[in-house]
Amino acid sequence: MSLTTIRDVRVILTAPAGIDLAVVKVETGEPELYGLGCATFTQRYEAVATAVREYLRPLLVGRRVDAIEDTWHLMMNSGYWRNGPVLNNAVSGVDEALWDIKGKQAGMPVYELWGGCCRPAATLYTHAEGATSEEVEEHARALMADGYRYIRCQLGIYGGHMGGAQQQLSTPKAALEGAYYDPGQYTRATLSMFERLRSLLGYEAELLHDVHERLTPAEAIRFACDLEPYRLFFLEDPLAPEDSAWLANLRMHTHTPLAMGELITNPAEWMGLIQGRLIDYLRVHVSQIGGVSPARKLAALCEAYGIRTAWHGPGDLSPVGAAAQLHLDVSCHNFGIQETAQFTEAEREVFPGTPLIENGYMYPNDRPGLGIDIDERAAARYPCRRREHKWLQARRPDGSAARP
Ligand code: MG
Repeated sequence: MSLTTIRDVRVILTAPAGIDLAVVKVETGEPELYGLGCATFTQRYEAVATAVREYLRPLLVGRRVDAIEDTWHLMMNSGYWRNGPVLNNAVSGVDEALWDIKGKQAGMPVYELWGGCCRPAATLYTHAEGATSEEVEEHARALMADGYRYIRCQLGIYGGHMGGAQQQLSTPKAALEGAYYDPGQYTRATLSMFERLRSLLGYEAELLHDVHERLTPAEAIRFACDLEPYRLFFLEDPLAPEDSAWLANLRMHTHTPLAMGELITNPAEWMGLIQGRLIDYLRVHVSQIGGVSPARKLAALCEAYGIRTAWHGPGDLSPVGAAAQLHLDVSCHNFGIQETAQFTEAEREVFPGTPLIENGYMYPNDRPGLGIDIDERAAARYPCRRREHKWLQARRPDGSAARP
């Protein structure tokens, strides 16, 4: 039992790869003992920073560092209204930092505290993209040459266009600017892309695809069935959480494996998917649900129902968040696959201990805690700036706003 207390809770904002990241640093009464956690909600990072500084910090300073479970519930419930993305990310930052501290106190990597490794590394999938099928094929071949065996293949910006491309579509007069996409054009082009990829690349690489929740339930059902000849490893987010009641229908129609969950924020959104065995992979964003403490419980729930984990791992996950979920990946038996972006040199400079990627695997290190640090002076050289995320301003051909 430790009598060490929390001395300060700080938020560090940095954008070494041009993506705004929020990392929480929990400092303790012991000099040199601190923890880091990911609180990145890149589109609303200042709101998360305010939640940490103005609400969680006053609640936490002076409390003991060891009672992680109790602290998590205190953070989640003390604002009465809960399970929103801003608060969940703020809670995640502290939760992961407290696990980092506990590992450092124990002199062990966090995965050792969770039962030890049941695999030495996490199998990865990463993204092949291009404006044409030929470009996607070229990108996929380059990734395969780098050792990746699981590759997510996407045309354009999730099948959409930016800028003046709506002129190519039959939009009404006075249609607003936006990232336009046509569901029919998107599904037809994607099917023909997979036709090309399978005929030229064969079946050695596992291929994946992300619908990004852009289709209606009827469109998603037809698309998942049409993809069957190409034997996807999984089809990602074919429906939005709001359309989850359609999943049983989708499941009945197709044998394409299904992965869902990157927009899930509230536990009520995953219960039905798991209990009904409506998906094969659950892929929530760990900081979006409140950190590694709830993620471990969610993984255990999935294991009981034969569902595997595929935590969301985009570029707007900080290297600290990537390290934290890597500890889940290597210690949870029902781990399925880990999405990853490629870390830049600047990210590795700001975050010493950023996980190593080799031959399509991500390797944890054996340092105590989460095994990752932050160089705050380097972080300050890459300030955040409020960015406009134009790809999120998606529209359908009739000019109406759509899910991105
Ligand atoms: Mg996705």
